[in-house]
Amino acid sequence: MDDKLSRAIAKRHDDLVTLTQELIRFPTINPPGEAYAPCAEYLAKRLQSVGFETQLIRGEGTPGDTDRYPRTNVVARFDGRTHGKTVHFNSHIDVVDTGDGWTVDPFEGIVRDGKIYGRGACDMKGGLAASMIAAEAFIEVYPDFPGAIEISGTVDEESGGFGGVAYLASKGFFSKPRVDHVIIPEPLNKDRICLGHRGVWWAEIETKGEIAHGSMPFLGDCAIRHMGAVLDAFEEELYPALDRKVTSMPVVPEGARRSTMNINSIHGGQTDDYSELPSPNVSDSCRLTIDRRFLLEEDIAEVKREVISILDRLRWERPKFHYNIRDIMEVQPLMTERHAPVVTAVAEGIRSVFGKEPEYVISPGTYDQKHIARIGLLHDCIAYGPGILDLAHRPDEYVGIEDMIESANVMALGLKVLLLGSI
Ligand SMILES: [Zn+2]
Repeated sequence: MDDKLSRAIAKRHDDLVTLTQELIRFPTINPPGEAYAPCAEYLAKRLQSVGFETQLIRGEGTPGDTDRYPRTNVVARFDGRTHGKTVHFNSHIDVVDTGDGWTVDPFEGIVRDGKIYGRGACDMKGGLAASMIAAEAFIEVYPDFPGAIEISGTVDEESGGFGGVAYLASKGFFSKPRVDHVIIPEPLNKDRICLGHRGVWWAEIETKGEIAHGSMPFLGDCAIRHMGAVLDAFEEELYPALDRKVTSMPVVPEGARRSTMNINSIHGGQTDDYSELPSPNVSDSCRLTIDRRFLLEEDIAEVKREVISILDRLRWERPKFHYNIRDIMEVQPLMTERHAPVVTAVAEGIRSVFGKEPEYVISPGTYDQKHIARIGLLHDCIAYGPGILDLAHRPDEYVGIEDMIESANVMALGLKVLLLGSI
C-alpha cells in the first residue's frame, strides 16, 4: 500500500459521496439523452477547479443528436511536469430509464447504510466519481509526475456509444500518441479486471410470401409459416450446435461461456397497429431479428454462414421459400492480453489493496471498449470499477461507498505503476 495515496483518498471521502450524489441528480436517461449538456458542464467545471484543461465536444449529427438532446461529451486532461505516458479514464454519463419497483427516488442520490442509491449509481457514476478522486489524490501526492491523466464523461454507451466514444475515437481522442492506456470504470466488482467482451452479430431475416384472402390460404403463400420452418431448423440444428461451442474466455456469468443467440423480435403479417382490428390476410412478409453473441474462437464469416446455410437449404426444401438477410450490427470479440501494461498495473493495485489475486473476466455483452479498439486502434484497455454488475439497470441500484474508496485506491495505484513505474 501507499499510505500517502490512501490518506489522500480517505480525506476525500465526503467529497466522493457528494460528487456521486450530484452526478446521480442529473437525470441523464438514454433514450432520449436527457440532461447530457448540464452533466458534462458540471464535470468540466469540477475538473477545471483541480487543474484539468477541459473540452466539451458534441457528437454532431450522430444518432439522436438534436438541439433539444445534444450529445455533449467532456474530455479533460492534466499534463504532468514532464513528458510521459497518458492514462485515460473513460466513463459513460448516460443511464437507462428507471423502470418500476423503486423504493427510493432514483435521482435523489440518497445515502443509506454506507450505500448511495440512484439510477446510474453503480452503472456508472460511482465509477466515474471514484476515478476522479483517484486522479485528484494522485496529482496531489505526486505533483511532479511525468505524462498525463485524462478523464472523459461520454454519452450514449447504453445505445451503442455512437455519439460518445465512437465519435471521439473518430476524432483521434482514443489513439496514440495522445493516449496510451485506458481504464473504463464500469461496475465489474472491485477485485475483478474485465479484459473484453464476446462478439456480436445482429441481423434481420425476412421471409417472403404472397398475400391472399385468409379463407383461401392455398391461393397465397404464408411468410409466417416459412419463418416457422426457419425457427424449427434453428431449434433442431443451430441451438444444439451453439451450445456445444465453449470458449476459453473467462466470461461471467458462466452461462455466457458459450455461443448464444437470442431472437429479439418477430413481426409477421399486416400490421394491426391501426386499430383493434386483426390482420385479415395471408402474410406476405415476416421479419425476425437475431442477436448472436460469438466467441474469440469463432470467425464472424463462419457465424454468418451457419445461419445462411440453413436458409439456403430451406430454399431447396420448401417450395416458394424466399428470404432476405440484412446485417444490423457486428462487433468483433475482444480480449486484452493479460500481460498488457494496464492489466498488470491494475492487477498490482488489486493485490496491494485486497491482498489477493484479481479475477480476470470477460463481459457477455459489449461496452465502449469496442470503439477504442476498432476506431482508436488502442488495445491497452480494460474495464475496472466499483459496483456490483448485477445491480446495473435494476430498481434500487446502489454503489457502496467503501467499495468506491477501495477501487479509487486501486485506480490510484494503477496510475502510479503506469506513470511512475512501480508501486
Ligand atoms: Zn455501463
